[in-house]
Amino acid sequence: MKQDKKYYGDTRLNHFCAFCSCPTETEDHVPSKCFLDKPHPQDLPVIPCCCKCNNDFSLDEEYVSCMIDCMKAGTASPTLVEREKTRKSLLHNPKLQERISSQIRDFGGVLLYDIEKERFEKVFRKLAFGHLAYENDTLAWNSPYSIDIHLLSEMSDSQRNDFFRPYRGELLPEVCSHGLEHVMLCWEDGHLDSCISPWIPIQEGRYRYCVSPNGNIVKFVIAEFLAVEVNIEM
Ligand SMILES: [Zn+2]
Repeated sequence: MKQDKKYYGDTRLNHFCAFCSCPTETEDHVPSKCFLDKPHPQDLPVIPCCCKCNNDFSLDEEYVSCMIDCMKAGTASPTLVEREKTRKSLLHNPKLQERISSQIRDFGGVLLYDIEKERFEKVFRKLAFGHLAYENDTLAWNSPYSIDIHLLSEMSDSQRNDFFRPYRGELLPEVCSHGLEHVMLCWEDGHLDSCISPWIPIQEGRYRYCVSPNGNIVKFVIAEFLAVEVNIEM
């Protein structure tokens, strides 16, 4: 138990798993390290969680991370996948390699991805609820949510502009939260004329995210390939 650790501005939240409301037993990184390359960035966001949630996502996260890199490469052949972590996973796990290979289909030069949607959504819910907890001190265990997934390469300029535009709003994140710190830093930089939630870079080329000030929208980009928007009913 690490309930005295400063995960949040409000330490009372330390007692609960960020994903399911069970008592805290351990902690987890958001984003999970499988989405990042070594050397991992220092001071990765960490939040409290239960052992079940800590273990429950590993296989799905490996699948999603590998699938994204294979979609990017257009193949599940380990020799053609650029990213070392995924190459190793595919080589060490032939069943995973076979499974992903069967989900990338070439129709006359057009690639179709037959992704396992439930696994993507399970992992993306975890990422979104984890970012929301870490940034805004908000635990949204039972809140309904919806997930939109786009390939960055297929988004129009205006879709991209909308997606990457930082949020401006009148509501501020919780007092003492990381989200409020980020808003205040933007103010100090003198860039802004109103409350804004910036994009937070975790690792260049691998992962960045943004949480709206009132926490109802969490966006992230994985491998500069997949753009994900999670809308959460607060
Ligand atoms: Zn849990």
